[in-house]
Amino acid sequence: MPIKLTRLIFILAVTAMLPLSALTGSALATVSYTVEVNPDLKQAAVQACFSGDPDDPHLADLYLSGTARRAISRLRWNDQPVPDLRRWGGLQVSPDQQTGCLSYQVKLSSSSERWGYTSSAYMLTDPKHWLLSPPPGADAMVRFVLPDEVAVSHPWPRAETQPVQGSVWYRLGLTDPSWSSNVAFGRFAIHNIPIADTFLRLAVLPGTPLPDLNVTRQWVTESARAVLYSHGDLPQSEPQVLVMPIGRQREAIPFARVLRGGGVGLQFFIDPAQRLRDYRDDWKPTHEFSHLLLPYISRRDAWLSEGLASYYQNVMRARDGRLSEREAWDKLLAGFERGRDGVTSNRTLAEEASGMHRNQSYKRVYWSGAAMLFLADVELRKSTNGRHSLDTALAGVAACCMQLGKVWRAQDMMREMDRITGTDVFTSIYRRHTRSNRFPAVETVLNELGVSHRRGRVSLNDDASSAHLRGQIMRPVVPPSEPGG
Ligand SMILES: [Zn+2]
Repeated sequence: MPIKLTRLIFILAVTAMLPLSALTGSALATVSYTVEVNPDLKQAAVQACFSGDPDDPHLADLYLSGTARRAISRLRWNDQPVPDLRRWGGLQVSPDQQTGCLSYQVKLSSSSERWGYTSSAYMLTDPKHWLLSPPPGADAMVRFVLPDEVAVSHPWPRAETQPVQGSVWYRLGLTDPSWSSNVAFGRFAIHNIPIADTFLRLAVLPGTPLPDLNVTRQWVTESARAVLYSHGDLPQSEPQVLVMPIGRQREAIPFARVLRGGGVGLQFFIDPAQRLRDYRDDWKPTHEFSHLLLPYISRRDAWLSEGLASYYQNVMRARDGRLSEREAWDKLLAGFERGRDGVTSNRTLAEEASGMHRNQSYKRVYWSGAAMLFLADVELRKSTNGRHSLDTALAGVAACCMQLGKVWRAQDMMREMDRITGTDVFTSIYRRHTRSNRFPAVETVLNELGVSHRRGRVSLNDDASSAHLRGQIMRPVVPPSEPGG
């Protein structure tokens, strides 16, 4: 049956501002994407083929960002041209076309350019700038057709069913398509590194000088394995790890972050010329991998996600032996001190966290959260006689709550951790400190643990009333399983 172009329904720009849920139906078709990249890495051809039930309210509502609208050309439905996409805000494929393919060409734009880093050896992109993405919950998959010696690094998990032999298909539609992620095409390799029950998909982008692959593998593996000292698991499926050399820097890893679009991706910006020791000494990889112990926490509640990563960047490095117990307490106390110095306004922690970037209140937000989780950890160990801790709470979170695409408010996560531990430790700490305009008081608890600060140096007292808890926190309780084991 010939398909008329008018059956493609274009949504006017104004509807693109509706919340996505307003555009999504309950039953959705299968959408299979094929992305073919040009050898110059500057262009891609995308084909999205739809198949589904004609009774579906619609096959798919595709997300169209402003950048994609400008970058897409030669849009066709079953090889017939369709009107210029630039006039439209979204794209809905109607139920009349339960089978058919949409295809287009797209100019890839570099997302590393804004940091001043580009390379002819790779193209780092944000897929929302070139992919007409399906809505969350869609049954959608993507595969790549790549030139010789070109690889792709992306956060999308492997699809459970692989429909066409000879290609590997990855799941799309797991998160909101407006969330950022990294997709890099270029002349590099993907290294699968086993960690507990999953593996990291490591890509080391080319640069000058070329980063030492063995060195990079070592510090990446070590910091990912450090997180296993919490409860033995890395509760994310095949996270993407993208290491990006950015030339001579003062630090080995000047910047790193976790992105949640499409799946879970970590990005490390490195000085490729530094030694293994310098990367191992940097706290950021352990901090970033610690983020993976929680699902996506709303940025308005950054004190929870950043607090956990800031607390564990020291605790986990003590447990795996990179820091001595004294060094770990020293760094924690120094962090608490920075957090206290960061209290420069009358605003509550909740207010500072929700406006963290605007207020530049990073120190207060990160270290207040770390102090709260430290207090919760000690209180749990005390009140349950060591049966529960922050680690067992996170083990419960790993079992119940890691669904991709869901954004948690901190209050709900704290309630969940109380349910897991059968206590009210987290919600009472939440209530006490998020509405406070002061840094959480940690001195009494530190004294009970026998940790004090004298003449700029941490001293540890084994005769303190709860000195045994200090060891419980800083010494390994769960030996991480061997790689691949
Ligand atoms: Zn962080």
